[in-house]
Amino acid sequence: MSKPVYNRIALVGLGLIASSMFWAIKRAGLAGEVTGYARSDATRSKAREIGLCDRVCDSAAEACEGADLVVLCVPVGAMGPVMAEIAPVLKPGATVSDVGSVKGHVIDAVQPHIPEGVHFVPAHPLAGTEHSGPESGFAELYDNRWCLLVPVEGTDPDAVAALRALWEGMGANVEEMDADHHDLVLSVTSHTPHLIAYTMVGVADDLRRVTDSEVIKYSAAGFRDFTRIAASDPTMWRDVFLTNKDATLEILGRFTEELFALQRAIRTGDGDMLHDYFTRTRAIRRGIIEAGQDTDAPDFGRAHGK
Ligand code: NAP
Repeated sequence: MSKPVYNRIALVGLGLIASSMFWAIKRAGLAGEVTGYARSDATRSKAREIGLCDRVCDSAAEACEGADLVVLCVPVGAMGPVMAEIAPVLKPGATVSDVGSVKGHVIDAVQPHIPEGVHFVPAHPLAGTEHSGPESGFAELYDNRWCLLVPVEGTDPDAVAALRALWEGMGANVEEMDADHHDLVLSVTSHTPHLIAYTMVGVADDLRRVTDSEVIKYSAAGFRDFTRIAASDPTMWRDVFLTNKDATLEILGRFTEELFALQRAIRTGDGDMLHDYFTRTRAIRRGIIEAGQDTDAPDFGRAHGK
């Protein structure tokens, strides 16, 4: 067990990310007490039933009052309103952080509500699954994954150091980055790939009448890996695209150009171009495995019955 980093942590929003934080905080003893709040009765009841949080509160204000760290774990579009609601109860010297997938927008929406004497250290754990809700979390989610801290200029270094210690205690590797760079990098590694997966699954759905149930039956040929990503939470992803608009459009523009180049190579029978392209992309997969960010077992290590 580690020494607690914070006396009291409040988690606002009790979905995949917050529930995984709670179990990881408990695993390592990183807080004296963890309070939690979610807007719906159903989520709060479920949290109480499964022992998620030491104390589940019936208002965000009650959960955040007296907290040393408040982590906003709601969809990106809800961060500003939630922050405005809790601002009056925050104690001087407390830190507010978040886990939002987009940083520029969250900083613009949250920063104006941060009271004098309260620190704000935005963060983004690069870990998740396609599941959501209070029951979807698990203590190991952040093990050996990255968490990016995006402190605004002039942030108290001690507040940043404490949040770093919390994320490291939860198993993550921590790095700092500025918001614009974060939003561009994540557009390439996460946001645009999700959009492409949503599109591919949408196209298959449009063709359903033609292919009947064959899309499902033969999905293991590659399609099902798109469907996992395209099963991600609709509210979360709507907010990501609405709030990381510029970077997404930039990367989508480049994607479209490459797609046209491949389309042309297919039309003109340019096998060398296709082969060179696929050789280059194969190396990216090797790099991810060497960086310890995925398994090198075939088919992502799925069990295949004999
Ligand atoms: P989730 O499982 O869907 O949980 C979202 C939580 O936010 C729920 O407790 C929900 O309350 C609450 N909520 C939803 N809309 C709200 C609103 N308008 N006002 C107040 N509360 C609201 O989501 P999650 O996956 O944990 O994502 C939370 C944050 O983490 C998002 O900002 C997301 O961008 C970020 N993130 C997600 C992933 C991922 O892969 N999932 C990875 C990294 C970062 P109810 O349950 O009561 O409806």
